[in-house]
Amino acid sequence: MTEYTAPIEDIKFVMEELLDIYNHYKKYPDYQEVSPDVMEMVLTECAKFCETELAPLYQSGDTEGCHWQDGNVTTPKGFKQAYQNYVDGGWQGISHPVKFGGQGLPPSIGLIRTEMIGTANWPWSMYPGLSLGAASTLIEHGNDAQKKIYLPKLTQGTWCGTMCLTEAQCGSDLGLIRTKAEPTGDGAYEISGSKIFISAGEHDLTENIIHIVLARLPDAPEGSKGISLFLVPKILVNEDSSLGEANSMSCGSIEAKMGIKGSSTAVLNFDAAKGYLIGEKNSGLEYMFTYMNSARIGVAIQGVCSSELAYQISLPYAKERLSMRALSGTTHPDMAADPIIGHPDVRKMLLTQKAFSEGGRAMVYYAGKMVDELSQCNNELERKHIDDKFGFFTPILKGFLTEVGFESANNGLQVFGGHGYIKEWGLEQIVRDARISTLYEGTTGIQGLDLLGRKILLERGRTLKAFANEILSFCRNHSVISKNAHRHRMNKFIWPLSKAVVNWQRYALKIGVKARKDRDIIGSASVDFLMYSGYVTMAYFWAMMAQKANEKIAEKPDNIEFYRAKVRTAEFYFDRIFPRTRLLAKTMLAEPKSLMRMTSEQF
Ligand SMILES: Cc1cc2nc3c(=O)[nH]c(=O)nc-3n(C[C@H](O)[C@H](O)[C@H](O)COP(=O)(O)OP(=O)(O)OC[C@H]3O[C@@H](n4cnc5c(N)ncnc54)[C@H](O)[C@@H]3O)c2cc1C
Repeated sequence: MTEYTAPIEDIKFVMEELLDIYNHYKKYPDYQEVSPDVMEMVLTECAKFCETELAPLYQSGDTEGCHWQDGNVTTPKGFKQAYQNYVDGGWQGISHPVKFGGQGLPPSIGLIRTEMIGTANWPWSMYPGLSLGAASTLIEHGNDAQKKIYLPKLTQGTWCGTMCLTEAQCGSDLGLIRTKAEPTGDGAYEISGSKIFISAGEHDLTENIIHIVLARLPDAPEGSKGISLFLVPKILVNEDSSLGEANSMSCGSIEAKMGIKGSSTAVLNFDAAKGYLIGEKNSGLEYMFTYMNSARIGVAIQGVCSSELAYQISLPYAKERLSMRALSGTTHPDMAADPIIGHPDVRKMLLTQKAFSEGGRAMVYYAGKMVDELSQCNNELERKHIDDKFGFFTPILKGFLTEVGFESANNGLQVFGGHGYIKEWGLEQIVRDARISTLYEGTTGIQGLDLLGRKILLERGRTLKAFANEILSFCRNHSVISKNAHRHRMNKFIWPLSKAVVNWQRYALKIGVKARKDRDIIGSASVDFLMYSGYVTMAYFWAMMAQKANEKIAEKPDNIEFYRAKVRTAEFYFDRIFPRTRLLAKTMLAEPKSLMRMTSEQF
């Protein structure tokens, strides 16, 4: 059985020491009450639920998978009870508005819940996870009646929600959607078409499922401008939220997949199903972008979860498994051989996982602060500013953290040698489960285009410049020649970081200039540029964490080893991971000719 221990000390370090979270909450009237006691309660109770109820179902859920019969889906043994306990614990609505039955805690606290349930059991966590997406879409764009009827049940978790975008002919390019919506004359619509790959599309955890569906009206313009968003309940709902008759839709099948087998991935057939328009006609894709930013943070967390779980499982193995003698001299002369944790290559694999997990956590919770700000900000100009920064950050988090999360999972498996390939240890499952994270919610290729094309070149690098200035200002504040000893210690982080940040803007500019002559440079550079951006962003967080840790070390706290380990992990990151940016700089700037010249026939 895969075991999970919630990394409470590290989450507290990030939230309380790195992000100074209570002073941040104090800025907002709605979050004044969030104290260290509230944080402690959320951390310990959520950890207990995840460690004792979800983690034990991780491997068994994979072995059993979901079952489809006659349109109904049964989730693996134990999933339904765990879901009921989750609902009873009030976890789904922890950061939903109080007026819809939620607890009104900041979204950043909701992210802690998402990280913990996701690391303990990612496939299980997808049921409430997709539902959060459906609820936030309704909060943002639904009308009053829709909010009143559907949100309290979604907030409690009594009903689940889904996001139905993908069809057989389109995933990345949603402009190709064919599902139709015909007005019925009474304010409702008949939805007809087939959606594929719908996570949590059908299951036995809740009495109803509320589908959020993209479809086209009969007179809609072609392409992405002609897509509208609809609410389509599996069971029709009366005005008092009681259940009516079954809607005209069915689950045709569920996918047999590589991983996340406990999560049902459904083909949904809508056969003149009753649906209700959300917001304005033909604005569906625009609304989806609001949803996608938060959903992409949800998937970015999967990168952290994969790194964290792989690390938690491979670390004790590396301490116990014996093989040969350490190169620098025997560490355990009383044993037949030394533990593999003494070997540099094994250490590299462990530290890579640790660096990505802790660095990724800091990046995600920093974004959580932006979501808090967005949820409270009423000033339009300020809101736009935060939204732009969040929008810029999203593809970096989603694209980069899922790629390195998968790398971490692979490293975890490698630490086990051949045993990693054997099901019993759980690592091969983490690798299989992590693989999807670079694909759904927009592939890494699509994240790269979003970052470089939409979020940088289209807006002439404005947000990149603002974020780069934030990093450079941190660098300036911590690199001065100073009598303060821990400031000197920061120079090894600050100098390479500032250089890479200055180059980050130069490379964007260079690509922008080259793109005037050859548009293919954008597509040929985008994924390398995205990864470069990820490594630089993570370096900023590692530098900040090292700085905080150095300050704490000077105070000689009881848990001084925690802070020393932080500094050492930062050193590892800058020595052995961060130099990857140099290669990426070279490849992103290479002319696209060698990619584009070959004809399709020559391949
Ligand atoms: C397990 C699972 C769960 C899912 N859950 C959901 C869900 O809940 N709801 C939902 O609606 N969908 C869901 N999806 C669908 C998922 O979001 C899509 O599969 C994904 O967005 C990619 O779309 P696609 O499969 O059509 O690939 P395609 O769009 O066909 O892409 C194929 C390849 O081409 C690349 N590509 C495409 N266009 C470009 C371009 N312009 N430039 C460069 N490269 C490009 C892509 O990066 C990719 O490598 C799920 C999928 C899976 C497998």
